[in-house]
Amino acid sequence: MIDNLFDTLLLAQEGPLLQMPNEAVEAIEAAAETVSTSAAISWSNLGYLLAAALFIFGIKGMTHPRTAVRGNQLGALGMLVAVLVVMLGGGVVSWPVALIAMLAGSAGGVWLANTVQMTQMPQLVALFNGFGGIASVLVAGAELTKASNPGIAGLAAGLTGLIGSVTFTGSLIAAGKLQELPQFKKPWSFGGQQIANAALLALCLLLSWMMVDGSGGEYILLVLVALVLGTLLVLPIGGADMPVVIALLNSYSGLAAAAAGFVINNNVLIIAGSLVGASGLILTNIMCKAMNRSLANVLFAKFEGSATAPDADEVYAGKIKSTSAEEVAMLLDGVQRVIFVPGYGLAVAQAQHVVRELANLLEANGVVVEYAIHPVAGRMPGHMNVLLAEADVPYDQLKEMDEINPTFAQCDVAIVIGANDVVNPVANTDPTSPIAGMPILEVHEARTVVMIKRSLSPGFAGIPNPLFAADNCLMLFGDGKKALVDLVAALKEN
Ligand code: NDP
Repeated sequence: MIDNLFDTLLLAQEGPLLQMPNEAVEAIEAAAETVSTSAAISWSNLGYLLAAALFIFGIKGMTHPRTAVRGNQLGALGMLVAVLVVMLGGGVVSWPVALIAMLAGSAGGVWLANTVQMTQMPQLVALFNGFGGIASVLVAGAELTKASNPGIAGLAAGLTGLIGSVTFTGSLIAAGKLQELPQFKKPWSFGGQQIANAALLALCLLLSWMMVDGSGGEYILLVLVALVLGTLLVLPIGGADMPVVIALLNSYSGLAAAAAGFVINNNVLIIAGSLVGASGLILTNIMCKAMNRSLANVLFAKFEGSATAPDADEVYAGKIKSTSAEEVAMLLDGVQRVIFVPGYGLAVAQAQHVVRELANLLEANGVVVEYAIHPVAGRMPGHMNVLLAEADVPYDQLKEMDEINPTFAQCDVAIVIGANDVVNPVANTDPTSPIAGMPILEVHEARTVVMIKRSLSPGFAGIPNPLFAADNCLMLFGDGKKALVDLVAALKEN
């Protein structure tokens, strides 16, 4: 273009200056347009760079509860910058459609933020992962309709279709499992399922490869097969392994977005998608370690269930010792060290503030108070940290599993509030149990364990917990918050 311009200008200089030939005028106009387009591209790239920096500082902020809120705000600001740059970049095909979509999305987001309970956040996060996946599928599909021979972008579109579709159906099933819907609660599989999954994956990869000079028809077939694959991959995964699945699907949603970024040649999508993909993979690794599982074991091992596992009646019959708030208050009189063990039931009962109140009372009497945090307690990574941070529990009192486990034997009373699977000793004793091998909080080592829950029902993994029947365990039956309020009142009366 520039060479062309110089040639034309030289041509123009041979004639009178004011009578510049038409070719020269057109070339100058075209060059000016190119310069202004590349200036616009640089401005948008600068905007994308700013957004990417904000995302990275946002993630850095999330590494500590003290800076997490700021981190979240930085991430949201980064997303706003990215949206504005895209909108102002001149690529919007239809403003009315874009604005209606943004308004509808924002209204849905505000509604969800105001109505979804804290305990439903994990399901919501699973749905968000799924929506991210299907959005990437649609973007790549729309782009494909424009290109007759897409080349390498077609391969990227194929991978977007594959990863995004698996993420979509996998996340819907995961959300159903987290919601404990009866249809999804039990792991479901059939003979030869892994061969079927491998065949579907091979077909998807072949179709992705064919997208290099493929068309919309092949893309639709690819998406349909990948939707089935996502369903079959997550249905057999049961109970306690869900933390790994959620983290992995989160990572997939990022990878799908990054692949879509290659399809539409959008840098910020590639960067943001890669950040989500990489951080999701790191989280998956952390969750695998917390469950003491390899990723292959979570994804491909079929849970057979234990043929010899005792049922609840066998485990509990005649061995359960029920207690009252007044008895526990007397037990706490004169103790030196108390460890609180929060679990999913703490979130259901929203008992975090009253736990803090009880801890304050104990500390005022000279008791050392700590909180034992299991990495998969609750229903999402960091669930317990978030809850306790809400109640301003000092961070230095939160102890991770490896740090607190050796000290349970020196603890007078361990008060377990709505935790079950993460304190179930079966993990160490029954190799066929769904939580076999998972490191647990060893509360059974404490001198006395007070277990606060509403009944003897099992936790997320659906298995009985012999801890309830242990000699040193007292069951304080009731809603977590109510039981703790009663305990605080009884302590104040003592
Ligand atoms: P569990 O799900 O094992 O147990 C929770 C217990 O809380 C239940 O037994 C229930 O008993 C009790 N409970 C419920 N509501 C209340 C209430 N209002 N007051 C008092 N108690 C209540 O929880 P854990 O935290 O021990 O374990 C987490 C489980 O979730 C693990 O299996 C983990 O693998 C899985 N998971 C974790 C994810 C994560 O990222 N953290 C994600 C997905 C799954 P009752 O009904 O008798 O009151």
